[in-house]
Amino acid sequence: MDRNNIRNNETDLEFENRIRPQELDAFSGQEKIVDNLKVFIQAALMRGESLDHVLLHGPPGLGKTTLANIICNEMGVGLKVSSGPVLDKPGDLAGLLTNLEKGDVLFIDEIHRLSPVVEEYLYSAMEDYKIDIMLDKGPSARSIQIELNPFTLIGATTRSGLLTSPLRARFGIQCHLEYYDAPVLRRIVCRSAGILGIGIDDDASHEIAMRSRGTPRIANALLRRVRDFAMVKGSGRIDLPITRVALSALNIDGRGLDQMDNRILTTIIHKFGGGPVGINTIATAVGEDAGTVEEVYEPFLIKEGFLKRTPRGREATELAYTHLGIARPAAEGTLF
Ligand code: ADP
Repeated sequence: MDRNNIRNNETDLEFENRIRPQELDAFSGQEKIVDNLKVFIQAALMRGESLDHVLLHGPPGLGKTTLANIICNEMGVGLKVSSGPVLDKPGDLAGLLTNLEKGDVLFIDEIHRLSPVVEEYLYSAMEDYKIDIMLDKGPSARSIQIELNPFTLIGATTRSGLLTSPLRARFGIQCHLEYYDAPVLRRIVCRSAGILGIGIDDDASHEIAMRSRGTPRIANALLRRVRDFAMVKGSGRIDLPITRVALSALNIDGRGLDQMDNRILTTIIHKFGGGPVGINTIATAVGEDAGTVEEVYEPFLIKEGFLKRTPRGREATELAYTHLGIARPAAEGTLF
């Protein structure tokens, strides 16, 4: 099975709903964000106001949608969900906004993909809780202003660099989600296993955590697949040997890198002599959008020490060569 399938095909809603944390205390990791949100939520509740608008940014699968749901639960308000590409007409946005009750949350996923006209509309809605709606066309066209209930906009994006500055400036609370380290991911795997009634050994949960690309969504997806292997080829309980069998059958790299991660590294090494090479050139060579390489793949490769960002471009590190089993050419001037 292709690794990307594991990443993207996490559509089992029932599974999702069972393991998705419902309150801040069940949300592992991202301590600073969680602590700050607790304060902002409590303060808003004490004042009886809606929470300020929240921008959540970070790579896919790190918990943006989960946090939006948790904020609603903790504030005790309703949630309406939409996404940037879906909201393509101002009328669609107006419909959503006018249906919000006092304090409700409007969650817009992929907010960087909003069209400029819809974005303009959002400005006054976010700032003054008002929107202007055009009635009629041609000479009889006129606009009326509609007052909205105070609401909280939660925007999520993997590409914060694409957000316009006027939109970004209207979010009073901005949270950047980081990749999770192995002990936190292990807690998440154990929690999910507990909820699903799956027996799992400590070393097995550690192995899954290590190979999850720092991402809870991948950790949960791997847990499910390893459970399948444990049921069919093992004793039912997840132990280290069956975990290793399952992960190798799934082509999961020992460091948790996926196919695109490895392709980026091999491309830099084989096609560009290890770098330095510009992000646009890398992106063209691997057939991916430059922004996606920069904001989705590169941060993890840098965090894990496989890639270095230099003023002249990206460079593969010693670790990348070792990991891929490629001998590093001797530097010029070196005798041996
Ligand atoms: P995003 O919106 O950033 O793509 P999601 O919020 O959909 O990510 O999270 C993906 C999955 O990972 C969800 O099933 C959620 O249960 C799980 N998850 C994410 N963050 C955490 C966390 N901090 N603790 C426990 N589970 C998490």
